[in-house]
Amino acid sequence: MIVQTKELSRDGEVTLSRRAQGQGILRRVTVSFALSIFAAALGSAQASHAQKQSGGEGFYPAWAAQARYLQPLMVVDTDSALGRRNLQPKSITLKDMARMHGHLCDGLVTSWVQLSVALHELFPDGVVDRTDVRVVSRNCPCCVDAGAWMTGARINQGTLMLDNSVGVGFIVQRISTGQAVQVSQRPGFYLAAVAELEQSIRNLCARGEAVAPEEIDLFEQGADAYSRKLLNTPPEQAVVVELLADYHFPGRSQNPIAPRSDTINRDAPRTVPQPAATQQR
Ligand SMILES: [Zn+2]
Repeated sequence: MIVQTKELSRDGEVTLSRRAQGQGILRRVTVSFALSIFAAALGSAQASHAQKQSGGEGFYPAWAAQARYLQPLMVVDTDSALGRRNLQPKSITLKDMARMHGHLCDGLVTSWVQLSVALHELFPDGVVDRTDVRVVSRNCPCCVDAGAWMTGARINQGTLMLDNSVGVGFIVQRISTGQAVQVSQRPGFYLAAVAELEQSIRNLCARGEAVAPEEIDLFEQGADAYSRKLLNTPPEQAVVVELLADYHFPGRSQNPIAPRSDTINRDAPRTVPQPAATQQR
């Protein structure tokens, strides 16, 4: 039996200790957050939990809806299956994408911000022609969904290629002009403690070991704190943009298949009992 304990010290340091019954500490993970960030995350998590009670919109927390630098993206597509390019642009939002992806997560938020920067670079008039974009993404469940749904690029049409060497970022090319940009995360922006905890949970899952519900809660709180920080930061301070001269779009994906990773804890227990309706599958 694994016993999980969590301690929050006055300076905002969170310590998770895992013990096996009758044994000493198996693993000790210390997660240091600035207390203000952690407190904000806790507050947002509580707000998010409260919203889950209402109207089926609880997947999208208030802190995202109210974020300072989050803007919708204006796009054009075609009018029909054999249609011409739209005469009027439409607005798409991070909330639209979260609804279709299944959740709002740090990967989706990162992708939204990075791809918004890349697309505005390629379409300086502010309207993205989604018939004219191709993308290279690493193969992760959140960034590939964003790479397709924000840009119009598609795996089945050869306009969305999967290559893990791009790291936490994308290469985005405007097909008609050949202009290409690579966007990536500014070093040090992601919370190192959250990355450490994420890797720890993934390692446990890979070994078939139990993940304590407190660990999942703490990761989600840290990821939300990061997402909140990102959406309240000027994008140019969080995203590195590099113009790629004479970029040749790849003819195939280097990493076409990867197991789905955002469902590995779907059956893990919760620390707080949930209303019956949210437990139904
Ligand atoms: Zn996700």
